[in-house]
Amino acid sequence: MSGKRRRKIILGGGFGGVYTAKHLHKLLSKEDVEICLVNRDNYMTFQPMLAEVIGDALGVYDTVSALSSLLPKTTLYINEIEKIDLKGKKIYLVCPFKKQHIVLDYDELILALGNATDFIQLQNGVAQHALRFKNLSDTLILRNHVINVLEAAATENNPQLRQALLTFVIGGAGFTGTEVAAEVCDFITKMLKKIPCIKKEDIRIYLVHSKDIILNELSPSLGKYAMQLLRKKGVTIKSGLKVEAVTPHHAILSNHEKISSKTVISTAPANLNLVLESTQGLPIAHDRIKTDPNLLVEGFDHVWAIGDAAHIPLPDGSFAPPTAQFAVREAKTLAQNLAAKMALKPMKPFQFKPLGLLAALGHRKAVGELFGRIKISGFTAWLMWRAIYWSKMPGLSRKLKVLFTWILDLFIPSEPVVLNINSRKTMHHLHFKASEMIFDQGDLADYLYIILKGRVAVVKKFEGNGEKIIKELEASNFFGEIALTKDITRTAKVVALESTDLIAIPKDEFLVMKDNFLELDTFLTTTQESRLEELNKFKKH
Ligand SMILES: Cc1cc2nc3c(=O)[nH]c(=O)nc-3n(C[C@H](O)[C@H](O)[C@H](O)COP(=O)(O)OP(=O)(O)OC[C@H]3O[C@@H](n4cnc5c(N)ncnc54)[C@H](O)[C@@H]3O)c2cc1C
Repeated sequence: MSGKRRRKIILGGGFGGVYTAKHLHKLLSKEDVEICLVNRDNYMTFQPMLAEVIGDALGVYDTVSALSSLLPKTTLYINEIEKIDLKGKKIYLVCPFKKQHIVLDYDELILALGNATDFIQLQNGVAQHALRFKNLSDTLILRNHVINVLEAAATENNPQLRQALLTFVIGGAGFTGTEVAAEVCDFITKMLKKIPCIKKEDIRIYLVHSKDIILNELSPSLGKYAMQLLRKKGVTIKSGLKVEAVTPHHAILSNHEKISSKTVISTAPANLNLVLESTQGLPIAHDRIKTDPNLLVEGFDHVWAIGDAAHIPLPDGSFAPPTAQFAVREAKTLAQNLAAKMALKPMKPFQFKPLGLLAALGHRKAVGELFGRIKISGFTAWLMWRAIYWSKMPGLSRKLKVLFTWILDLFIPSEPVVLNINSRKTMHHLHFKASEMIFDQGDLADYLYIILKGRVAVVKKFEGNGEKIIKELEASNFFGEIALTKDITRTAKVVALESTDLIAIPKDEFLVMKDNFLELDTFLTTTQESRLEELNKFKKH
């Protein structure tokens, strides 16, 4: 990089990245350096208040701030990071407007990419069917989904399906799971005022937690208080259990209990960010990057890591927890150490004693622990929760907007509007457990299915003659094409014989492929003919 301005690149525009950039600008204002920040979104999300968006206590844009307003002096790259080359000191970014990478080189690199925001690594249908709760789009998807299932239940005649639509399962009762359960519960109560045909007693909300007491980051007495409060709201707490699998029809718990539900929310512990996972040479422990106490990545003198992505040792032998409270303090230490290193001065190890923890429990109640000793709960805790997080929101204009939204929320009821940004059906993955039905004979034909893993049975119902398995299909077979090509309802039922993963291709896309890909069309016609022949043989028997 000789002859060029020295470039410090920060990867990630969350709490860690944004605060590092802010401190670096202050500390290096006299140096000839360029500070760049790369993030996939052009905004920073204030996660601690995301749950409030579900029930409209905050508006869609109230929990986000534009990076350009927060960091006017930083060179911003709003791109997906595809690859980090630590040896070559290069970062490869994806640009949606051209078919080549944007390549950035650096002399110092700061990794603040948080943890994985998807469930790709999670098995057993969690990735395919559970809703997640990490960023603004997850919040909107969850809110839309809750409105959709309630409105569908209002006109549903099938009692089993109606109950599944009115059943909500939340996996994990740490801070996120507990706050989401409370907010979903309050939002449903608000919604039911507009849907009088659904009674509060019809709603089932399950909070599934692996420990006996929820919110295990707090003292047991506060966890118990939170459990009491949630139970009063109508939440059933399933302690000592995990959500083991999710299918389109059920949440399956670790004791094999099947809860029939169309809404499963997983707040499972996060994994290592996928870009970091594929980066050669990074030292990893417990799904995070190992750093030394000065926040330098172990084995490097110019790569740093902070926030949820980093495994940072603390002076007492423990490791920094993945919280915003820690990330912003780590950002300050990192910037100071980087400046010290440039000035050839000694660096300081990171240390911070958390001030306290607070969790909102909906309807103006919260629980918390301050300075590790003082326990608070109820309305006072809730007021403190709002005051503290409000004071931490970046920028005066954001603070004022949020304050007005909260005041208006006291007087104006929320509007259950579903913003359908992406209403097109797309190809997606599905997971079924043994004996679950994929579709029934007579159902509308909407997808073609390809089996990735597992086995299914095609079952024909004959009038007066009961049911017969006419074919078993396994991985790499497909099914569902007859009704799609003939534009009729399903001619048979398909049931999973074991744990099965499928890809579902929407009808329209399948028909475009079939009509324009001659060899595929010929193959499908031949397969279809032989399948119909087999079916006729069964009819004769
Ligand atoms: C619902 C919820 C509630 C929470 N409540 C609290 C709370 O009350 N108190 C508290 O202290 N903490 C809370 N936390 C935790 C806190 O939000 C995190 O600890 C904090 O956000 C970590 O900051 P970070 O900078 O390490 O990561 P993040 O804030 O996750 O930022 C990482 C950034 O990197 C970007 N990124 C990742 N991969 C790529 C890529 N490949 N290309 C481009 N960009 C990429 C992401 O889009 C993101 O913007 C909560 C978290 C959640 C999810």
